[in-house]
Amino acid sequence: MHEMSLAESVLQIIEDTARAQKFAHVRTVVLEIGALSTVEAEAMLFCFDAVTRGSIAEGAQLQIVEIPGTGWCMECGKNVTLSERYGLCPECGDARVEITGGNELRVKDLEVE
Ligand SMILES: [Zn+2]
Repeated sequence: MHEMSLAESVLQIIEDTARAQKFAHVRTVVLEIGALSTVEAEAMLFCFDAVTRGSIAEGAQLQIVEIPGTGWCMECGKNVTLSERYGLCPECGDARVEITGGNELRVKDLEVE
């Protein structure tokens, strides 16, 4: 389950931000997860709870925002929506679609006190 190490990097970002902005506790963490990333939201919630125990983010609520997958088709030159990583172009059915969005795992917002 690689979500555990990803959750640890998220916590790292939170702790770095806490040091820079001098807050003591985090109430809510808004995390963007791309539809084409390999991150499972359910697993992420579970791992986040586990790794934040005893940290400044203990008990914080994790809000997950899913970013849709998008790509650019090299065959028909259109920007398209992708629902899976190696999805075919919905316009022409070609497999040569370059992913342009939906790969992210990013801390978008922190609600702190
Ligand atoms: Zn196409």
